[in-house]
Amino acid sequence: MSITMAVNAGSSSLKFQLYTMPEETVIAKGLVERIGINDSVFKLEYGDDQEVKLVEDIATHDRAVEILFEQLEANNVIHSFDEITGIGHRVVAGGELFKDSALIDDEVIDQVDALAEFAPLHNAAEAAVMRAFKERVPNATMAAVFDTSFHTTLPAENYLYSLPYEYYEDFKARKYGAHGTSHRYVSRRAAEMLGKNIEDLKIITCHLGNGASITAVEGGKAVDTSMGFTPLAGVTMGTRTGDIDASIIPFLMKKLEINDINEMLNIFQKQSGLLGISGISSDMREIMAAKETNERAKIAYDIFINRVQKYIGQYIAVMNGVDAIVFTAGIGENSAPVREDVINGITVFGAEIDAERNDTRKEAVISTEASKVVVLNIPTNEEVEIAREVERLKANA
Ligand code: ADP
Repeated sequence: MSITMAVNAGSSSLKFQLYTMPEETVIAKGLVERIGINDSVFKLEYGDDQEVKLVEDIATHDRAVEILFEQLEANNVIHSFDEITGIGHRVVAGGELFKDSALIDDEVIDQVDALAEFAPLHNAAEAAVMRAFKERVPNATMAAVFDTSFHTTLPAENYLYSLPYEYYEDFKARKYGAHGTSHRYVSRRAAEMLGKNIEDLKIITCHLGNGASITAVEGGKAVDTSMGFTPLAGVTMGTRTGDIDASIIPFLMKKLEINDINEMLNIFQKQSGLLGISGISSDMREIMAAKETNERAKIAYDIFINRVQKYIGQYIAVMNGVDAIVFTAGIGENSAPVREDVINGITVFGAEIDAERNDTRKEAVISTEASKVVVLNIPTNEEVEIAREVERLKANA
């Protein structure tokens, strides 16, 4: 059997999904949580609803990978390590270096490590996990799939900040974006669903999850995206601010008597967004459940919808038109009311939701026949996209 694994390592977590390729059948998936913290949890699902859960202290990512392989073998998901022929690693920051997914060798791992200054919580963990896999399955083809590479086609006018140009030249301070694997997957899928060549389409992809980003995709290439130097920018998110005026940083630090900028940033990352505005939750379902009776939940919801609408408007201007708008990720693919509220406020652009078609969580065109802009719901699948990237690179090698 030829198995390809999609691996997504975070600072304290490791998620994995195993596919037989080219069928793209999921044979197992799971995660390790709380790596480096006590009471780490390992979970594996496979076969017909079989589940394994272990709780023990897992101090390092290397140990997490070791347990993963032990458990895959112990539960007969794999019979030998050789069955795993491909591994795709999601990497958060690829900087300007990685314009495409890359086959992994020692040099690439070192480069991923070196890019950690752009994603301190992620890249170092990802490099450690790559080393751990390489040691255990040295013969498998390993590929790094970057969240940023889909956005490396942005023109300078959209990736440069209005800062002294030397900061870009000297430090590579610019917009990189994120969620690129998802934006690429859903934009291609949209073209397939419409039976059109992606080169002929202007698409706006709205990845609305706990983290949220919106991308303008023209002719199959990203031309602008809402996340910035880091995933803090753009629309309002579960706990992240999205766009704010930088001058509010020193102002609030003074008022809150905060001296450490990282403490302030932590507030922007973890205590803001839907959670900060509502004071209730970062979870959109809870915000929606509370918004009829709670003013702050309502304003949090309204701000979220408003920011998504503004980015769609911006990107129609950036591309001078739009053929399709795609909704995806936790909120986008599950919430018909969010999709309806976003589109109903921008009918001036010729988009019209069909309430009956919109009542779905599956892949579907959700706009009316008469709508000038096609609106689609497309559940994202970053894992399968990562597995496909491994196969693509393997075929081209
Ligand atoms: P992450 O960025 O962590 O991957 P997800 O894409 O899983 O996030 O999205 C999580 C968000 O999706 C949460 O805010 C959750 O409330 C929201 N969500 C999931 N199902 C629904 C639903 N039916 N209606 C509204 N929001 C939903």
